[in-house]
Amino acid sequence: MESLTLVDPCTEQPFAEVPAATAADVDAAVAAAAEAGATWSRVPVAERAQVLRRAADELARRERELVEAVTMPLGLPRHLVPAVQLASALGTLRSTADAAERMTVEEVVGNSYVRREPAGVVAAIAPWNYPLMQSVNKVAPALAAGCPVLLKPSELTPLDAFLLAEALAAAGLPEGVLRVLPGTGPEAGRALAGHPGVDVVSFTGSTEVGRQVAALAAASVSRALLELGGKSASILLDDADVPAAVAHCARTVIVNSGQTCTALTRLLVPRSRLSEAEECAAAALSAARPGHRDDQAADLGPVISARQRDRVNGHIVAGAAAGAVAVTGGPGAPQGLDRGFYVRPTVFTRVDPQMAIAQQEIFGPVLVIIPYDGDDDAVRIADGTPYGLSGAVWSGDVERALEVARRLRTGQVSVNGGPFNPVAPFGGYKQSGIGREKGLYGIEEFTELKAIQMPLSEEIS
Ligand code: NAD
Repeated sequence: MESLTLVDPCTEQPFAEVPAATAADVDAAVAAAAEAGATWSRVPVAERAQVLRRAADELARRERELVEAVTMPLGLPRHLVPAVQLASALGTLRSTADAAERMTVEEVVGNSYVRREPAGVVAAIAPWNYPLMQSVNKVAPALAAGCPVLLKPSELTPLDAFLLAEALAAAGLPEGVLRVLPGTGPEAGRALAGHPGVDVVSFTGSTEVGRQVAALAAASVSRALLELGGKSASILLDDADVPAAVAHCARTVIVNSGQTCTALTRLLVPRSRLSEAEECAAAALSAARPGHRDDQAADLGPVISARQRDRVNGHIVAGAAAGAVAVTGGPGAPQGLDRGFYVRPTVFTRVDPQMAIAQQEIFGPVLVIIPYDGDDDAVRIADGTPYGLSGAVWSGDVERALEVARRLRTGQVSVNGGPFNPVAPFGGYKQSGIGREKGLYGIEEFTELKAIQMPLSEEIS
């Protein structure tokens, strides 16, 4: 049997082997899931919701094991794992349970009963950056909707998926309704995305792979839900509280070493306030301390892999060559961290909106500052990438900020630091994706609508 070798990003050393699922394993798993799903689809929604809640409690009890399962392949400092990685995953299990209980399963429309029914077998393909949360974002709503799930975690971070499956089993999920299939993208991922027995493919990852997944799913006219990359902008209007706005933006770039799809990696600043913003950003990112997972004072760990480190450094080198000015950071390893996939938190300023560092997702702790002239110019630059995942607007006048927020072509916008809302719809415009996760919106993506027409002579209610 083939296996996946997991590498510790803090030491560059292999630390575990996990069996890798093959295309034949996927075939067998799809058939078994269809069978298990037939029973699960008939379990009342309220009972399905209870399973999710009990699973969250079980995961909370196993926090220490979960922290290890997440930090070993990801490298995030241990002390940050509960807040950065686990809280949102457990919260999503619970908020999805609450949302499921609000779902209208059947309603009367004219002479029809309109029903929301489980869409069928779900293939959930997850990335490595927030491994548990990304799995939960798919598994929880699909189970709440009544679907069986085949979960393929990233080959780089498969460990926590097993703990999630164990917690759900302990919470009463019948055997076979969730199956974890660790494996590579080209083998297990492709087999799942293109399998004719899969009804919904829920994918989170890069835009490039998302395109391939959508094409594979299209062959059997299966639904493809895609949560893809981002290059989100934080717009500081000319009356914004610059220190507060820059600190907020900088935090999103530091957390999880910048490996966050919604990170606000472009800071759009009115030319008149550029030097103030540069100073604040340089201070915030130069104060961020990279370190080993055992380092209690570390603000960020390494990036996930040698490939990712080289990619981030490549962007930093190319940014400088294109004429952008680094006000802190630069290529190479941070001082004293020669072993491990560490990169230096970096701020570029005087960045042209068309430069590669302003257009492409870097997925590392790199912030670019782009000067603009007037609100219309800011909106044009913010919308001027192929992505549309997240964003932020800051102003002393909340109504003015809201007006700009309404104009942006992006799935989420924070006004003056408004926090993430776990029951609001989450997803992308343009090449950031198709479909929405979270809350009731996320559950409905895993349902099919059926209309049962009744004779007009029949009174229905
Ligand atoms: P990736 O696209 O390389 O891989 C994602 C998943 O797809 C993995 O499980 C991988 O094994 C699988 N895969 C790879 N090739 C495949 C193929 N040909 N067919 C089917 N499956 C395949 O992404 P990644 O590097 O794991 O994650 C980083 C990316 O994810 C970034 O672009 C980031 O923005 C994006 N992301 C998006 C969101 C969101 O909600 N929009 C959230 C987190 C991450």
